Amino acid sequence: MLPSVEMRESYAHAGERFQTVPDLAGRARACRRCPAVVPGSAVVDLPSETRPVLFVGEAPGRRGAARTGRPFDGDTAAARFACLLAAAGLPRAEVALTNAVLCLPLDDRGRNRRPRAAEAAACLPFLTEVLDLVRPRVVAALGAVALAALGRIEPHRLTLKEHVAQPCPWRGVWLMPLYHPAARSAVHRPFRRQLADWRALGEVYRSLTAIANFR
Ligand code: SF4
Repeated sequence: MLPSVEMRESYAHAGERFQTVPDLAGRARACRRCPAVVPGSAVVDLPSETRPVLFVGEAPGRRGAARTGRPFDGDTAAARFACLLAAAGLPRAEVALTNAVLCLPLDDRGRNRRPRAAEAAACLPFLTEVLDLVRPRVVAALGAVALAALGRIEPHRLTLKEHVAQPCPWRGVWLMPLYHPAARSAVHRPFRRQLADWRALGEVYRSLTAIANFR
């Protein structure tokens, strides 16, 4: 069972509809704050209502989200994400997905690259807006880029290495650091341990659901 945390009143209304996603998506695609990302490539695919769990990844990948228009879709990281989500027992329809950097970052040879800190900083207003729209109970930060970006919205002391799969109170919700589903993360965290991390996420989600149903 989770220790008690005072949830924001607004977070109690899961499933509430909102209307401003097309507006956000249009503004993100028109945004040119970052000169080194692919212009107009912002991927915003949010549900039209609040969700209890929000995943924040790094940035769209050229073979995945940037191609399909859906975060964690169409590439090998997406396949691993689906596997981990199943381990957590979370249906994709129950969650919302976004990235710390909405546009596609490529290197000089056209390959995916890690987003720059300046790009994550420039995209913070959009990430804040997504948080306020989706109003999750749990925010799962997938990797160090996402965890650092969230820490710029409201400071925390979490690190991936020390706090992986530990739910911590943050901004009126639970923040849970997890390794990014990309294959490279297995260097730092074997996949079988990542499966256990995501099962822990599922337990947090079910604990919160049980509390909400009890009230
Ligand atoms: S990454 Fe974010 S801040 Fe940068 S250009 Fe794209 S939408 Fe704008």
